[in-house]
Amino acid sequence: MNWSAMTHELTLDEADLAEADLAEAELAEAELARPAQLLAEDAPVIDLPTAERAAAQFLAALGVRLDEEGLSETPARMARAYAELFGPKPLRLTTFPNTEGYDELVIARGIPFRTVCEHHLLPFSGVAQVGYLPSERILGLSKLARLVEYFAARPQTQERLTKQVADYLFECVHPLGAGVVLEAEHTCMTLRGVRAVGATTVTSTLLGSLREDPRSRAEFFALAGMAA
Ligand code: ZN
Repeated sequence: MNWSAMTHELTLDEADLAEADLAEAELAEAELARPAQLLAEDAPVIDLPTAERAAAQFLAALGVRLDEEGLSETPARMARAYAELFGPKPLRLTTFPNTEGYDELVIARGIPFRTVCEHHLLPFSGVAQVGYLPSERILGLSKLARLVEYFAARPQTQERLTKQVADYLFECVHPLGAGVVLEAEHTCMTLRGVRAVGATTVTSTLLGSLREDPRSRAEFFALAGMAA
Protein backbone atom coordinates (compact mmCIF):
# COMPACT_ATOMS: atom_id res chain seq x y z
CA MET A 1 0.00 0.00 0.00
CA ASN A 2 1.15 3.53 -0.69
CA TRP A 3 0.44 5.59 2.40
CA SER A 4 2.89 8.35 1.56
CA ALA A 5 1.03 9.06 -1.69
CA MET A 6 -2.28 9.02 0.14
CA THR A 7 -1.05 11.44 2.82
CA HIS A 8 0.16 13.77 0.10
CA GLU A 9 -3.19 13.64 -1.63
CA LEU A 10 -4.95 14.36 1.65
CA THR A 11 -2.87 17.52 2.05
CA LEU A 12 -3.85 18.62 -1.43
CA ASP A 13 -7.43 17.89 -0.54
CA GLU A 14 -7.24 20.21 2.46
CA ALA A 15 -5.95 22.98 0.20
CA ASP A 16 -8.85 22.36 -2.19
CA LEU A 17 -11.18 22.49 0.76
CA ALA A 18 -9.90 25.91 1.79
CA GLU A 19 -10.45 27.21 -1.72
CA ALA A 20 -13.87 25.70 -2.12
CA ASP A 21 -16.77 28.07 -2.36
CA LEU A 22 -18.22 27.91 1.15
CA ALA A 23 -21.80 28.62 0.14
CA GLU A 24 -21.56 25.74 -2.34
CA ALA A 25 -20.10 23.48 0.34
CA GLU A 26 -22.97 24.31 2.69
CA LEU A 27 -25.45 23.53 -0.03
CA ALA A 28 -23.75 20.21 -0.60
CA GLU A 29 -23.92 19.40 3.10
CA ALA A 30 -27.63 20.13 3.16
CA GLU A 31 -28.02 17.91 0.13
CA LEU A 32 -26.20 15.07 1.88
CA ALA A 33 -27.54 15.59 5.39
CA ARG A 34 -30.43 13.24 4.83
CA PRO A 35 -28.53 10.09 3.83
CA ALA A 36 -25.93 10.84 6.52
CA GLN A 37 -28.65 11.03 9.16
CA LEU A 38 -30.34 7.92 7.87
CA LEU A 39 -27.05 6.07 8.16
CA ALA A 40 -26.43 7.33 11.69
CA GLU A 41 -29.90 6.19 12.74
CA ASP A 42 -29.27 2.57 11.87
CA ALA A 43 -26.47 2.38 14.46
CA PRO A 44 -27.35 -0.50 16.82
CA VAL A 45 -28.43 -0.04 20.42
CA ILE A 46 -25.72 -1.81 22.39
CA ASP A 47 -26.59 -3.40 25.77
CA LEU A 48 -23.20 -4.30 27.26
CA PRO A 49 -24.41 -5.93 30.53
CA THR A 50 -26.70 -8.33 28.61
CA ALA A 51 -23.92 -9.07 26.10
CA GLU A 52 -21.53 -9.79 28.97
CA ARG A 53 -23.96 -12.22 30.65
CA ALA A 54 -24.56 -13.98 27.32
CA ALA A 55 -20.81 -14.21 26.66
CA ALA A 56 -20.29 -15.84 30.08
CA GLN A 57 -23.03 -18.38 29.31
CA PHE A 58 -21.65 -19.02 25.84
CA LEU A 59 -18.13 -19.69 27.14
CA ALA A 60 -19.40 -21.85 30.01
CA ALA A 61 -21.46 -23.91 27.55
CA LEU A 62 -18.27 -24.58 25.58
CA GLY A 63 -16.48 -25.80 28.71
CA VAL A 64 -14.35 -22.69 29.24
CA ARG A 65 -13.81 -22.21 32.99
CA LEU A 66 -14.19 -18.56 33.88
CA ASP A 67 -13.04 -18.97 37.48
CA GLU A 68 -9.45 -19.29 36.36
CA GLU A 69 -7.15 -16.32 36.64
CA GLY A 70 -7.10 -14.26 33.49
CA LEU A 71 -10.56 -15.40 32.37
CA SER A 72 -12.80 -13.82 34.97
CA GLU A 73 -13.08 -10.55 33.04
CA THR A 74 -13.18 -12.23 29.64
CA PRO A 75 -16.97 -12.03 29.11
CA ALA A 76 -16.88 -8.27 29.75
CA ARG A 77 -13.92 -7.88 27.41
CA MET A 78 -15.66 -9.99 24.76
CA ALA A 79 -18.77 -7.81 24.99
CA ARG A 80 -16.72 -4.62 24.64
CA ALA A 81 -14.65 -6.03 21.77
CA TYR A 82 -17.73 -6.99 19.73
CA ALA A 83 -19.43 -3.71 20.59
CA GLU A 84 -16.41 -1.96 19.08
CA LEU A 85 -16.58 -4.12 15.95
CA PHE A 86 -20.32 -3.52 15.51
CA GLY A 87 -20.54 0.16 16.43
CA PRO A 88 -20.14 2.38 13.36
CA LYS A 89 -19.09 5.97 13.97
CA PRO A 90 -21.62 8.36 12.39
CA LEU A 91 -20.77 9.01 8.78
CA ARG A 92 -20.98 12.45 7.27
CA LEU A 93 -19.96 12.87 3.67
CA THR A 94 -19.20 16.32 2.39
CA THR A 95 -18.75 17.00 -1.31
CA PHE A 96 -17.20 19.97 -3.03
CA PRO A 97 -17.77 21.44 -6.48
CA ASN A 98 -15.37 20.10 -9.07
CA THR A 99 -14.20 23.61 -9.96
CA GLU A 100 -11.06 22.42 -11.77
CA GLY A 101 -13.15 20.13 -13.94
CA TYR A 102 -11.00 17.15 -12.92
CA ASP A 103 -12.15 14.31 -15.17
CA GLU A 104 -9.79 11.44 -14.44
CA LEU A 105 -10.15 8.62 -11.94
CA VAL A 106 -9.67 9.31 -8.23
CA ILE A 107 -8.63 6.14 -6.41
CA ALA A 108 -7.68 5.54 -2.77
CA ARG A 109 -5.63 2.34 -2.67
CA GLY A 110 -4.66 0.03 0.14
CA ILE A 111 -7.34 1.15 2.61
CA PRO A 112 -7.06 -1.39 5.45
CA PHE A 113 -10.31 -2.72 6.86
CA ARG A 114 -11.49 -5.34 9.31
CA THR A 115 -14.93 -6.72 9.93
CA VAL A 116 -16.65 -9.90 11.11
CA CYS A 117 -18.25 -12.51 8.90
CA GLU A 118 -21.96 -12.83 9.53
CA HIS A 119 -21.88 -16.62 9.23
CA HIS A 120 -19.32 -17.47 11.93
CA LEU A 121 -18.73 -14.14 13.67
CA LEU A 122 -15.02 -14.58 12.96
CA PRO A 123 -12.93 -11.66 11.70
CA PHE A 124 -12.03 -11.07 8.11
CA SER A 125 -9.65 -8.33 7.09
CA GLY A 126 -7.83 -6.97 4.10
CA VAL A 127 -7.49 -3.94 1.89
CA ALA A 128 -9.92 -1.92 -0.18
CA GLN A 129 -9.39 0.09 -3.35
CA VAL A 130 -12.14 2.67 -3.78
CA GLY A 131 -12.40 5.02 -6.73
CA TYR A 132 -14.68 7.17 -8.79
CA LEU A 133 -14.73 9.21 -11.96
CA PRO A 134 -15.86 12.70 -10.86
CA SER A 135 -18.69 14.59 -12.46
CA GLU A 136 -19.99 17.82 -10.89
CA ARG A 137 -18.70 17.16 -7.38
CA ILE A 138 -15.68 15.70 -5.65
CA LEU A 139 -15.40 14.09 -2.25
CA GLY A 140 -12.79 14.58 0.49
CA LEU A 141 -10.33 11.71 -0.03
CA SER A 142 -10.37 10.59 3.59
CA LYS A 143 -14.10 9.91 3.15
CA LEU A 144 -13.35 7.01 0.83
CA ALA A 145 -11.65 5.24 3.73
CA ARG A 146 -14.41 6.33 6.14
CA LEU A 147 -17.04 4.79 3.86
CA VAL A 148 -15.30 1.42 4.05
CA GLU A 149 -14.88 1.73 7.82
CA TYR A 150 -18.54 2.66 8.23
CA PHE A 151 -19.98 -0.30 6.35
CA ALA A 152 -17.41 -2.69 7.88
CA ALA A 153 -18.67 -1.93 11.41
CA ARG A 154 -21.30 -4.70 11.48
CA PRO A 155 -21.50 -8.42 10.72
CA GLN A 156 -20.84 -8.61 6.99
CA THR A 157 -20.27 -10.64 3.89
CA GLN A 158 -17.48 -9.43 1.65
CA GLU A 159 -19.84 -9.26 -1.31
CA ARG A 160 -22.32 -7.00 0.50
CA LEU A 161 -19.60 -4.75 1.94
CA THR A 162 -18.18 -4.22 -1.55
CA LYS A 163 -21.57 -3.35 -3.00
CA GLN A 164 -22.65 -1.09 -0.13
CA VAL A 165 -19.54 1.08 -0.41
CA ALA A 166 -19.90 1.39 -4.20
CA ASP A 167 -23.66 2.06 -4.08
CA TYR A 168 -23.36 4.72 -1.41
CA LEU A 169 -20.52 6.49 -3.22
CA PHE A 170 -22.52 6.43 -6.46
CA GLU A 171 -25.75 7.67 -4.89
CA CYS A 172 -24.21 10.42 -2.76
CA VAL A 173 -21.55 11.92 -5.03
CA HIS A 174 -23.26 11.28 -8.39
CA PRO A 175 -19.95 10.51 -10.15
CA LEU A 176 -19.82 9.27 -13.75
CA GLY A 177 -18.60 5.94 -12.38
CA ALA A 178 -17.60 4.27 -9.13
CA GLY A 179 -15.58 1.16 -8.37
CA VAL A 180 -14.66 -0.84 -5.29
CA VAL A 181 -12.32 -3.82 -5.02
CA LEU A 182 -11.84 -5.69 -1.74
CA GLU A 183 -9.24 -8.36 -1.05
CA ALA A 184 -9.55 -10.10 2.28
CA GLU A 185 -8.51 -13.10 4.32
CA HIS A 186 -11.38 -14.78 6.15
CA THR A 187 -10.32 -16.46 9.39
CA CYS A 188 -13.38 -18.74 9.15
CA MET A 189 -11.66 -20.19 6.07
CA THR A 190 -8.00 -19.95 7.12
CA LEU A 191 -8.12 -20.92 10.83
CA ARG A 192 -10.96 -23.46 10.79
CA GLY A 193 -12.85 -25.50 8.20
CA VAL A 194 -10.57 -26.07 5.21
CA ARG A 195 -7.72 -24.12 6.92
CA ALA A 196 -6.70 -22.60 3.63
CA VAL A 197 -3.98 -20.47 5.21
CA GLY A 198 -3.03 -17.51 3.04
CA ALA A 199 -6.07 -17.81 0.75
CA THR A 200 -7.66 -14.47 -0.05
CA THR A 201 -10.97 -13.56 -1.61
CA VAL A 202 -11.36 -10.74 -4.11
CA THR A 203 -14.68 -9.00 -4.82
CA SER A 204 -15.47 -6.00 -6.98
CA THR A 205 -18.40 -3.76 -7.80
CA LEU A 206 -18.29 -1.35 -10.73
CA LEU A 207 -21.02 1.18 -11.47
CA GLY A 208 -21.77 3.71 -14.20
CA SER A 209 -19.05 4.33 -16.76
CA LEU A 210 -16.61 2.04 -14.94
CA ARG A 211 -19.03 -0.77 -15.59
CA GLU A 212 -20.11 0.16 -19.09
CA ASP A 213 -16.96 1.50 -20.74
CA PRO A 214 -14.29 -1.24 -21.19
CA ARG A 215 -11.47 1.33 -21.28
CA SER A 216 -12.50 3.03 -18.01
CA ARG A 217 -12.98 -0.38 -16.47
CA ALA A 218 -9.49 -1.55 -17.53
CA GLU A 219 -7.96 1.72 -16.31
CA PHE A 220 -9.68 1.37 -12.94
CA PHE A 221 -8.43 -2.18 -12.45
CA ALA A 222 -4.91 -1.22 -13.56
CA LEU A 223 -4.77 1.72 -11.13
CA ALA A 224 -6.31 -0.40 -8.39
CA GLY A 225 -3.47 -2.87 -8.93
CA MET A 226 -5.68 -5.69 -10.20
CA ALA A 227 -5.62 -7.59 -13.49
CA ALA A 228 -8.68 -6.53 -15.52
ZN1 ZN B 1 -17.50 -17.08 7.94
